[in-house]
Parts: sequence; C-alpha cells; structure tokens
Amino acid sequence: MKMFNKLMAKIMLSCVQATKLSAVKNYRKLGFVEKMQLKMHLFVCSNCKAFHKQGHQIEEAVHQFLFDEKYLSEKHLSEEKKSKIQNTVDQELN
Ligand SMILES: [Zn+2]
Repeated sequence: MKMFNKLMAKIMLSCVQATKLSAVKNYRKLGFVEKMQLKMHLFVCSNCKAFHKQGHQIEEAVHQFLFDEKYLSEKHLSEEKKSKIQNTVDQELN
C-alpha cells in the first residue's frame, strides 16, 4: 500500500501544479503525461475543475473578441470611436 501511495503522490498534481498546467494548456499543447495528470486532478478536485472551466471560457471569449467577424464588423464601433482610432493612427504615422 505504501508503494501505491508513493506512486500516487508522484502522479497526482498539487492544486498549484494543476492550475499552472490548466493555464499553460491555453498556450501550448500538453504532453501525454501532463494531460493525464491534469485530467486525474480535475476528476477529484472541484476547485481546480472550476478554475479550468473558467479559464477555458475566458480564453474562448478573448479569442472570439479578437477574431470573430461579429466583433470586427464596422457595426460594433461607433463612428466616434472609429474617428478617434483613425486620428491616433494618423498621428502615429506622421
Ligand atoms: Zn486542485
């Protein structure tokens, strides 16, 4: 039983390690072992599971805001904001 506990201690991540992997997952692909460790931790830890879910939602919202045509359309910015942006760009270029 001690061997099993030692093995589990090596495999199971702490909450700090799990949240780091959860954040890193948005910027690089996790390795097989990292994926399994994170999945196992998220299976047993509701706090990290909530953090992971919220991080994923934030990442999706940011991605949608930056790249979704709906948010990039001219309708989204008022004429006043467009004018301010254009003036700022013109000033920086001249
Ligand atoms: Zn945790």
